[in-house]
Amino acid sequence: KKRIAVMTSGGDAPGMNAAVRAVVRMSIAQGCEAYAIYEGYEGLVQGGKFIKRMHWEDVRGWLSEGGTLIGTARCKAFTERTGRLRGAKHLVLAGIDALVVCGGDGSLTGADIFRSEWPGLLAELTKLGEISEDQCSSFKTLNIVGLVGSIDNDMSSTDATIGAYSSLTRICQAVDFIDATAYSHSRAFVVEVMGRHCGWLALMAGLSTGADFVFLPEKPPQDKWEKEMCRIIKTVDPNPSTHPPIHRAAGKRKTIVIVAEGAIDRELKPITATYVRDILVDELRLDTRITTLGHVQRGGTACAFDRILATLQGEEAVKAVLESTPDIPSPMIAINENKITRKPLMDAVRLTKAVAECIKNKDFAGAMDLRDPEFEE
Ligand code: ADP
Repeated sequence: KKRIAVMTSGGDAPGMNAAVRAVVRMSIAQGCEAYAIYEGYEGLVQGGKFIKRMHWEDVRGWLSEGGTLIGTARCKAFTERTGRLRGAKHLVLAGIDALVVCGGDGSLTGADIFRSEWPGLLAELTKLGEISEDQCSSFKTLNIVGLVGSIDNDMSSTDATIGAYSSLTRICQAVDFIDATAYSHSRAFVVEVMGRHCGWLALMAGLSTGADFVFLPEKPPQDKWEKEMCRIIKTVDPNPSTHPPIHRAAGKRKTIVIVAEGAIDRELKPITATYVRDILVDELRLDTRITTLGHVQRGGTACAFDRILATLQGEEAVKAVLESTPDIPSPMIAINENKITRKPLMDAVRLTKAVAECIKNKDFAGAMDLRDPEFEE
């Protein structure tokens, strides 16, 4: 019987439990044995009680739970070969040769490195006498399948990552609450949302709440944006056919600005919530407050979309494990135009890193092109 393990790694995201549930139950339904590795790569390196057999009922009620019930961690040991050697030993001793990893690009990169080193790690363990020749030959390959769990929706090659829509839903609720109080006092609010390298949450939150301004890492505003922002907030546009009369002069009582954590200007200088607040206060005398949403964006139950996405992708991950051959590169389970798909994992990671590289080099058009090739200014 094939033994398939599932783990969550990196930042937690709502829907990870639904993914674990789906992998466990699909594995069992396919006649395999399911295992969970607790505490991410730390559990793999430690072995023992961190590697647990999972039964059908062990994941009962996990669909809606936020966070990850099998724990996650950042693990320095796994970034070094010695740590991965220990991880390999624990997998072989538990008879596991397939690993479904739900995490961000860091976790999935680690998984792919682990797979590529696998024959060498096993040879070394045999030489050290930690595993037998027989064990070495019956675990020749390690199957790795990636599921992307990330609230930031920051992975290339997939339209949505597990957790992103739950987080977006939470942000929308929070901004709706803020709207009411902002309106009451005619205030401005600068809302900081997560997203160090990816502005998806900020952009989509702006769309869903009708925010006035949005600041992102990938698309910095034009120079002198401060002046333009102030002009828009206080005046009536002279040409109402292109822009309806706007903001305070037209009786608008609130201003909402959404700032991604990683928002920058064209010189890569951070645009912080404090900086935006200071402009609104100093230039416009607007009563302005900052709300940093922080970890409420991460916690809480998974929204319907994430439950569905995680369940369908978890099922696909097990299918990918059972169909994998050594010549197929590690797949990442994606969703493209509403279809669950498999993409080469490392291509997706490379593209994701390329966006960050473009931003670092001030190639913002390049960053937007990688994010969305059909995007037009
Ligand atoms: P995320 O998966 O959310 O991007 P991290 O980048 O923190 O989060 O990665 C999570 C864990 O994955 C790290 O703590 C480390 O154990 C492992 N990892 C990340 N990058 C690598 C790498 N290049 N090689 C091996 N392991 C890695």
